[in-house]
Amino acid sequence: MSFTSHMHRALAEARAAADRAEVPVGAVVVDPAGRIVAAAGNRTRMNSDPTAHAEILALRAACAAAGSERLPGHDLYVTLEPCPMCAAAISFARIRRLYYGAADPKSGGVARGPRIFEHPQAHHVPEVYGGIAEAEAEALLTDFFRARRGADASGGDI
Ligand SMILES: [Zn+2]
Repeated sequence: MSFTSHMHRALAEARAAADRAEVPVGAVVVDPAGRIVAAAGNRTRMNSDPTAHAEILALRAACAAAGSERLPGHDLYVTLEPCPMCAAAISFARIRRLYYGAADPKSGGVARGPRIFEHPQAHHVPEVYGGIAEAEAEALLTDFFRARRGADASGGDI
């Protein structure tokens, strides 16, 4: 199915983020014709910007390309459940469908935590599909944090 290939692109962005020593999360925005109009990975460290999550960067690029602060009919694919900030931005951008990979028990804001889309203040709620290519997205994160712990622990085994 088409969403699988789009999640593959998001996973490629996540891997590129890991190569930059950023938390490996990637996102793409797809227009109503099924074309990828923006793709990004986390850049919080590189940009010294706590808001530079993959979803925010992809939404900004897609909105800039569209010349609009809203993206009706567009879909967003992201490798990890969005945090509350990104979920709110997805709602503001009027994204049609949200596909995400791994669940984020620590910082997720969609299926847990503040559950942004279930909140009465969410004026636009996308269709949400979780668990897309979940195992691969989760493995990227697990490997990344395991490697970081290994690097931090002097002489510690990985
Ligand atoms: Zn986020």
